[in-house]
Amino acid sequence: MPTKRAGKSTKGKAKERERRMTPNSEFEMPSFRLDGRVALITGGGRGLGLGMALALAHAGADIAIASRTADELDAAAGMIRALGRQALVVPTDVGDVAAVRAMIHRTAAHFGRLDVLVNAAGINYRRPIETFTEEDWDKLMAINLKGAFFACQEVRPIMKKQGGGKIVNIGSIVFEIVVPNVALYAISKGGMRQMTRALALEYAADRINVNAIAPGRFWTKMTDAFFSVPELYESAVSVIPLGRPGRPADLAGATVLLASEASDYITGQTIYIDGGWLINGGVKA
Ligand code: NAP
Repeated sequence: MPTKRAGKSTKGKAKERERRMTPNSEFEMPSFRLDGRVALITGGGRGLGLGMALALAHAGADIAIASRTADELDAAAGMIRALGRQALVVPTDVGDVAAVRAMIHRTAAHFGRLDVLVNAAGINYRRPIETFTEEDWDKLMAINLKGAFFACQEVRPIMKKQGGGKIVNIGSIVFEIVVPNVALYAISKGGMRQMTRALALEYAADRINVNAIAPGRFWTKMTDAFFSVPELYESAVSVIPLGRPGRPADLAGATVLLASEASDYITGQTIYIDGGWLINGGVKA
């Protein structure tokens, strides 16, 4: 039983009770609902980021979406509003740290809170290693890694003040395996894996959970040139046990889990959503 100490705040007492939980703690089913919460999704204008934004809106959250293409953001905002949620469009280049900081503050100021940050913006260059320039390196790392890091840094005090929050980073199956011609992308996502773990460790003190979702092969604008070639499609799908590329809705369950109180005791983890591709390391039968 927690000891009663004079002068402790109600919040402090609740924290202490939770820390000293007994083995017989009562089972209470957590909620997957996000009503009254606010989520910001970078890369939310299309593809996987848009799918995640819609999943969070379905679960009840109001949504801010950030990317560079205004008409895609407007169309995405229309879909969110059609679900009965509020939508804020925040045109942002996540490769620009000042813009990333402004994006966080604009969202928090507009809604008066910010509970969930999803770092989904990303680019890929499919080329052999010798062809990459310093400019390619700087641009890809800025968009895929640096922007996400500074978004997490900027959002921490806001979430801390609210008593906690959830950060979801979009990694990739290249957290675990590497395929040819995506070296810069794989390096950036490898960094994101460790960033997720490093932030999870330090942010736990503020009850901010930091996790990653690592998709396998999904058919989006990023991969359209690849999947549009029938031989490449067949070859890719032949090593996916569930027999098809992923679609944005396949991320919905994990997204809502990692954004809701149902994941309050999960941090520093990655959920792979790959149709089973990792089971045999991509080896053909
Ligand atoms: P996508 O359709 O090309 O979407 C990428 C999103 O990121 C777009 O909204 C794009 O908007 C945004 N973005 C790119 N550069 C940006 C920048 N500088 N500033 C702000 N936003 C930027 O590709 P996707 O497949 O949905 O990819 C989404 C995430 O999933 C990426 O992190 C990707 O690495 C990851 N992923 C994808 C797959 C897959 O198979 N598709 C697999 C594993 C991981 P603008 O271009 O308008 O800025």
